[in-house]
Order: sequence, then C-alpha cells, then structure tokens
Amino acid sequence: MRRHWSYHGRKLILAALLLLVIGLLIGAPGWMLAMGLLGYLFWTLHQAYQLQQWLANPHQLDHPPESIGLWGELFDGVYRLQQRHQQSQDRLQALVDRVQESTNSLQDAIIMTDAQGHMEWWNLAAERLLGFQRRSDQGQPIFGLIRSPAFKSYFTRKQYQEPLELSSPFRVHMRLQFQISLFGEGDRLVVARDVTRLHQLEQMRRDFVSNVSHELKTPLTVIRGYLETLETYQNELPPRWQRPLHSMAQQTHRMDALITDLILLSRIETSAHTQKEQAIPLAALLAQICDDARQLSGVKAHQISLDCKVTDGLQGDLAQLQSAFSNLIFNAVKYTPEKGRIQVIWRTDRQGGHLSVVDNGTGIDPIHIPRLTERFYRVDDSRKSDTGGTGLGLAIVKHALRNHEATLEIVSKLGQGSQFTCHFPSARLISLVENAQ
Ligand code: ADP
Repeated sequence: MRRHWSYHGRKLILAALLLLVIGLLIGAPGWMLAMGLLGYLFWTLHQAYQLQQWLANPHQLDHPPESIGLWGELFDGVYRLQQRHQQSQDRLQALVDRVQESTNSLQDAIIMTDAQGHMEWWNLAAERLLGFQRRSDQGQPIFGLIRSPAFKSYFTRKQYQEPLELSSPFRVHMRLQFQISLFGEGDRLVVARDVTRLHQLEQMRRDFVSNVSHELKTPLTVIRGYLETLETYQNELPPRWQRPLHSMAQQTHRMDALITDLILLSRIETSAHTQKEQAIPLAALLAQICDDARQLSGVKAHQISLDCKVTDGLQGDLAQLQSAFSNLIFNAVKYTPEKGRIQVIWRTDRQGGHLSVVDNGTGIDPIHIPRLTERFYRVDDSRKSDTGGTGLGLAIVKHALRNHEATLEIVSKLGQGSQFTCHFPSARLISLVENAQ
C-alpha cells in the first residue's frame, strides 16, 4: 500500500512540475499551477461523489465505478472488502437457514425467550403444539400465551432439574412436558414435548391398578372376616389346622395392607394437586404419629423424641401428609433395632420448613438410595427380615410431597442410621398464632 502511495505521490509531483514548466514557458507559472490544482480538485470531488453514489445504492454494489489511479485502487479495495463481507454473510445466512430448517423438522417445540420471558424465536412445532403465531406473538411474554400459574412459577423458579407436565393451552386433550434451560444472561430455552400418548398409558396403568385393588378389596374382606371367625374357634379345630389357619390370617393381613397402600397411592397420584387443603397444626399431628409409633415399637422400646413448636403449621392435605409422615416414622421404628433412638425434628428457615426423621438403625447402602422411592423397591435385607412392609411406603411419601411442592432428601450410612428429610417451600408455612388472630 505504501508503495502505491509513493508511486501516486511521484506522479502528482511530476504533473505539478510539468505544469510549472509549461507555465514558465508561457509566462504564467502561478496560473498554470492554480488551474492544475483546480482541475485535480474537481476530479477528486467527482470520484468522491461516485463513491458515495455507489455505496448508497445497494443494487449496484456488484459493479464498482470505473476509475484510474488512487481512486481506482480505492474502488477496487472497497469492492473486494464488500465481496468478502458478502461471502461471510452468505455463509452465516446459510448456517442460520440450516439451523432453522433442522429445528423446524423437530417434533418438539423450542422457544427462545429473554430473561423477562419475552419470546424471541420459536420453531414450527411450537406453533403446532402451543398455537403460537409468528407475526402477532413475537416479543410477547410467554406467560401470556401459556396461561398457567404452574408454568409461571416453574419458569421463574430457575430450578429445572425436573420437567413440568401440563395440558397444552392450544389443545386441551394434549399433554405437554416442559423442560427449560438457562443460557446467556438469564435467557431461557424452553423445550415442550408432546407426551399425550405416554400420559394416556400412565393413566391406563393407574386406572388398572386402582380398579384391580378396589375389586380385590371386597373378596379379601370376606375371606378375612371368615378367617377371623375361624380363629375365634381355634381351640375347637383339629391341631393340624391351627398352623395353616394362622398362616392364612397373616398372609391375608399382608395382602390387605398391600391393597390399602395401592389404593392410597393411586388416590394420591391422581390428585396432582391437593384438594382438601387446610391449616395443619404440625405439633399435634406429629405427636399423635409418635404415639402410634411407640405402640408399634412395643417391647422394642425405642426412644422416640419430638421437637416441634406448637405454633408451627403447614398448609396442605391432612390425609396425605399424615400418611407421608407416618410412613417415615414407622419405617424408622421398623428398621431400628430395639432401644434405638428416633428423633422427629421440625425446623423452619428462609427456604421453608423441614421435617427430619433421624434414626440410628440399620442404615441403607448408598447404592439403593436413588431407587428407594420406586414402587416395591426394597433393600434385599429388609425382604429377608420380613418387616411386614408393603414396599410402597416411600412411593406414597414421594407422591404426597410432590403434591405439596415438597421434596424428600435421604441421607444414610449403612450400620449407623438414616435421616429422611421433607423440604416444604416457605409458601406452605403458616403460623398458627397469627392464623388464630
Ligand atoms: P417397606 O414397606 O419395605 O418399608 P418403603 O417404601 O417404606 O417400603 O421402604 C423401602 C425400603 O427402604 C425398605 O424396604 C427399607 O429397606 C428401606 N428403608 C426405609 N426406611 C428406612 C430406614 N429408616 N432405615 C433403613 N432402611 C429404610
């Protein structure tokens, strides 16, 4: 470039010298130089005008103005620069088109929003599953289109480990599963998947279990009734009938417990949100469960202690929470050797309320912990020792807590004991003194 500048500079000086010589020959060097300078100025202005016209008209960008010298090189340079820019823009556009095309071929809806939830971009599936409209919905808050308090609280909570399942705002019979990821400065990528079929199958499974359990309950009650009557005449029966009778009564009792738990679980599962909510006095509820646990403990004489302020209360479904807390406390009794220590502790802090059931019993191997709340999942040893459990207790706890936006945390060490903690959100806490006023 510098070489060009010196070349053009030399040419300019030569032209000026030539004009000076001609001026000297005709006796007017000053005029001659002034004329040359004026001509050069006009030519430069004309080239600048051409450049401005060329750049101002995007349709002509492919054809740079013809020129010579410094201006010619300038036009060529700008033209090459503009060509490179155009090529990289074309490459970028091709990439954007490809991404757009591939996301449009997805079955799942993808929506990109800013930190406040304003919709910036979405794919075709979002229009199909959620009914978004390309022109009118651009920049709209996503909560205005997916009008569900559950979605709004899920979106703003910023904790997206678990997906959220909802009916589509567009087609009521369609079930959608939402999963959100954070990116940039609080921006969100919302993915919605059509899980209608899965939901229907799940519903069929629940209905089947619930119906079978209800159907089995009546004949079982009749059999139990007859067995209990027979047991009262035990002494009149031949001795060889006594053992089978006792065994039959025991197994019927187990089956009855299992069916009761199955019916309870399917009832808790189907009421996605608690229906009969009330202010629950925690101290009274836990004291009553601890009394029942002492009865269950019997001769094993566990030391059961309760730490809960009488003013602490929880908004929720009494039947569901009673069954969740009973399962945890009765499990502690079942899996803690005699004279073991069981503590029931209720604490509140800024995050919410926390109910811990701590025992110094058998403990659980960490490999079992992630699967413990699955239906019928039991640690092998407990099966052998036959604690009389149904294998549904912790599944009931999990679903009852889920209905209260609460979670279950399990910490345990084999041979040392376990701690089961239910974490409730602060929105569920109430003070019974304030409530009474
Ligand atoms: P179960 O009816 O068998 O007690 P649960 O669902 O209540 O079924 O519990 C699942 C398994 O978790 C139990 O079989 C047991 O092995 C283990 N478990 C639950 N609570 C405790 C505890 N407090 N200490 C040790 N193991 C426990």
